[in-house]
Amino acid sequence: MNSILQHDLNNFENILEKTKQQGVDFLNNIDNVPTSNSYSIDPKTVLNELGLGSIEALKEFNERLAPLMVSSPGPRYWGFVTGGSTPASIVGDWLASVYDQNTQAVKAQGGVSALIEFETINLLLQLLELPDSFLGGFVTGATMSNFTALGVARQWFGKQFGKDFAKNGISEPINILTATPHSSSVKCLSLLGIGSQNYTVVKTIEGNREALDIADLEEKIKTLNGKPFILISSAGTVNTADFDDFEAIEALKEKYNFWWHIDAAFGGFAAVSEKYKQFVKGWEGAESITIDCHKWLNVPYESAFVLIKKEHINLQIETFQNSNAPYLGNPLENFNYLNVLPENSRRLRALPAWFSLKAYGKEGFRDIIENSTALALHFGNALIENDFELLAPIRLNNVCFTLKGEQNQEKVNEFLSALNDTGKVFMTPTVYQGKKGIRASFVNWRTREDDVKLVIEEMREVLSEL
Ligand SMILES: *Cc1c(COP(=O)(O)O)cnc(C)c1O
Repeated sequence: MNSILQHDLNNFENILEKTKQQGVDFLNNIDNVPTSNSYSIDPKTVLNELGLGSIEALKEFNERLAPLMVSSPGPRYWGFVTGGSTPASIVGDWLASVYDQNTQAVKAQGGVSALIEFETINLLLQLLELPDSFLGGFVTGATMSNFTALGVARQWFGKQFGKDFAKNGISEPINILTATPHSSSVKCLSLLGIGSQNYTVVKTIEGNREALDIADLEEKIKTLNGKPFILISSAGTVNTADFDDFEAIEALKEKYNFWWHIDAAFGGFAAVSEKYKQFVKGWEGAESITIDCHKWLNVPYESAFVLIKKEHINLQIETFQNSNAPYLGNPLENFNYLNVLPENSRRLRALPAWFSLKAYGKEGFRDIIENSTALALHFGNALIENDFELLAPIRLNNVCFTLKGEQNQEKVNEFLSALNDTGKVFMTPTVYQGKKGIRASFVNWRTREDDVKLVIEEMREVLSEL
């Protein structure tokens, strides 16, 4: 064994102890870590002939790289839709690295850690009150979840013409209908060879809505003259957290032949609360659903899952199987994640979610969801009392707002960039119904009313200096 590796091996406990302490110090101080910084590095460093060993590498990391870290797991990082990481989720994440299992099979001599993934998916279905008619699997994010679901939808579409697109490529134009797709779904259309421009936009409901207009959807369906199509619907649009009407979509399935996909990356968690579960009523009728865990479940990054109805397992296997690797055996008899998802080698990605669900239970997540939504409303009210206006009603956890008055439109970006420069809060710019706006998303389990108060004070100050 290489001598430095040998030294690290002998010193393992000490190395992990130092790392643990560093983690504790960072997280215990997270309220004071800035949400933005302008520190930079020259991202080039010499690859030494002789290694430094872990302890010296940690020192270099702390000197050069750690200052790049912002408080993205902290309570006032409200940009995008960014969750934090709960203690239990970090336990699961750390242990996933320690155990380093290649999570593929449920019955194989080389390891059966996929059973843990089955168990975690089952817990998630219970949390979200979804039936176990879905097969679920973990991927890195909602983008990959959308990719997986739409990949299977593509195969389904071909089958309606007796064709196998996975084997032979796309030979029929694929009809996609959608109203307010997340940009990642559009990217998936590009990745899947469908074409990122090749979708039909369904109108949204009149007024201040992003949900699809069912009457217009039916109009657009009729122009397809009975041809099959794929519907990409939304459970939580990013600007205003709007939801399509799933019961109405379900009713359309009686009349028309389509694959129904729901992007519920963060909005799916509405199902956890009595107050909001009506938003997802009827969603169990979909063929496929996308849900992120690194948002509202508050686990570290690279965690999401895809749900696809078990009745479509053959389409899923046709799309993702490693068909030229005979040692895999019959994919139906010998279930293996590498034949139903994009990745082959996979870490034990379910573990952070498993720990979180066991540690906090239904009530823990209900509290996180309801705390986030209450804070969103609280923040919205404070905005109105100060010199801001809401661009859309607050339905769930996202607040879309702008500076009051048409004349201030040109100042929005300057305001936001000065606000983000304070390092006290981070929000993202948006454009909503032709207006420049700002979006604050409440997802982090740590956020409290005091954070909202502090942010409002910062906002007033930045406004007064504009
Ligand atoms: C965040 C988000 C995505 C993309 O998710 P990643 O985890 O960043 O890949 C897709 N759809 C919706 C609705 C989202 O909010």
